[in-house]
Order: sequence, then C-alpha cells, then structure tokens
Amino acid sequence: MPLAPPPPLRIGLTGGIGSGKSTVARRLASHGALVVDTDAIARRLTQPGGAAMPALRKAFGDSVIRPDGGLDRQQMRQLAFADVLCRRRLEAILHPMISDETQREALAGIAAPVVVFDVPLLVESGRWLDLVHRVLVVDCSEDTQIARVVRRSGWTVDAVRAVIEAQVSREQRLLKANDVLLNDGIDEAELARRVDVLWQSWKDLGAPTL
Ligand code: ADP
Repeated sequence: MPLAPPPPLRIGLTGGIGSGKSTVARRLASHGALVVDTDAIARRLTQPGGAAMPALRKAFGDSVIRPDGGLDRQQMRQLAFADVLCRRRLEAILHPMISDETQREALAGIAAPVVVFDVPLLVESGRWLDLVHRVLVVDCSEDTQIARVVRRSGWTVDAVRAVIEAQVSREQRLLKANDVLLNDGIDEAELARRVDVLWQSWKDLGAPTL
C-alpha cells in the first residue's frame, strides 16, 4: 500500500498593503505550494449572487449594494472605517464564511508539501494563528508601501496611508513572525531568490508538528 504523504506545512503569509505578499505567494505557488487567498475568497463571497450578499443586504441596506447585486466595496469600506460597530457586524458575517471556505480550499492541498494561507489581516484577527505552523511576514517601510500601491493601483497617497493606519503596526506584525522577508531596496528578482532560500529552509525542517 502506498504511504500517505506527510501533512502539509501550513504557513500564514501576511504583510501590510503593498509589502509584496501576492508576489511572494506567486513564487511559493511556483514551487508547488497551494495558496489559499482569503481576499479572493472574500471577493467571491461578495460578488453578484455571492453567498454573503443576502446577509450583507439585510445588515447594511441597499446603499452598500451595487446595481449588479455585488457589494459596493468602497461604500462598505467607508462605513466600516467610520463606525466600529459596522466593522464588527461586517466581520461577524464574513469571517465565519471565509473560514469555512478557507478550510475547504486547504483540504484540496492535502497532498501539497506546503499550504500557504494568504491573510492580509492575520495578526489583527488572531484566530488564524492557531491554524498555521509558521508565520511569514513580508516587510518593508511605509514609504515603500505607499510608492508601490500608488504605482500598482493608482490610489492617492492619503488613501494608502488610511489603510496602513487601519492595519496593525509593522512592529506588532514582526513580533508574530517565524520568518521575515525584507522586501525593501531590492528588485523582484532578488525577492524571488530570497523566497527560494526560504522554501529550501522549510523543506529542511521536515514533517510539521503543531
Ligand atoms: P501586496 O500583495 O502585499 O499588496 P504586491 O505583491 O501586490 O503586494 O506588490 C505590490 C506591487 O509592488 C506590485 O505591483 C509588485 O509587482 C510590486 N513589487 C513587489 N515587490 C517588489 C520589489 N522588490 N521591487 C519592485 N516592485 C515590487
């Protein structure tokens, strides 16, 4: 009888907006990691016909619904930023759904050597920390974050700053890290090399224990 593969190493990948998380996730996927992207899951849940839409409409009314039936993310973000109760209600609806879907997707990676949970708010919502063996933080300065997001997404400097301020501080994030990729003052090719070194170090760890 063939031996069952060892359980995958579960990595929580996080970092501030524009730190380079998605770039790192893609490189890890190219090595054979299964990447579970919680932002993509949240987007699917809130697209037209998405599973979260009836509850969101009930909680926040039509003003957060686009004409096509999907969530008006900008409107919702403004509400959630302005009012902590709104943010909590939003989280109470979305988080359990995101968790369920994340677990379902992670099961598909049962044969992968590594499952990466790409969770921008991993440190903020501590519940993810119990699910993973290691936390990988992609780190860079605030100036670099701003420059990248302005270039990538065309946001204003103030808009990027507002998101950075709503996220946990760089120091708090680093406190939770088992691995850190410093993605500052280097190009994407060097970042890829650093990811490759990290991948090798995970392989050297052997089978995970929690
Ligand atoms: P996040 O997912 O953390 O928001 P991304 O991986 O999307 O960040 O990176 C933000 C932008 O910065 C992307 O356009 C990406 O190509 C670019 N980028 C990431 N790392 C580097 C780097 N070391 N040098 C130059 N550009 C980078």
